[in-house]
Amino acid sequence: MRPLSIKVVSNKSLYIKWDEETVSSIELRTLRKLCPCATCSEQRVNQSPSYIPLYFEDQVKVEKLIEVGNYAVGIFWKDGHKTGIYEFPLLRQIALASNVVE
Ligand SMILES: [Zn+2]
Repeated sequence: MRPLSIKVVSNKSLYIKWDEETVSSIELRTLRKLCPCATCSEQRVNQSPSYIPLYFEDQVKVEKLIEVGNYAVGIFWKDGHKTGIYEFPLLRQIALASNVVE
């Protein structure tokens, strides 16, 4: 399963069109919360399960998207955080978990 196109909509959500003709919309806040980079992953492990992250506006706004090889997309956030590489299967998993695959 691969995305045919990925774009940010109104700086609120990530719209993904998959090659099997389905589309997903994932909230940027959710993506930031699940940032797969080493720093964020480590922070999540150390947090209590009831922890709710509160973000500044710039932390949940996308500066730009970059293609990483042909397997992932990198998200540059407005606050300068740019180490999160979202592999396509992860995006798919997040989309399914958010229950927004149409
Ligand atoms: Zn991160």
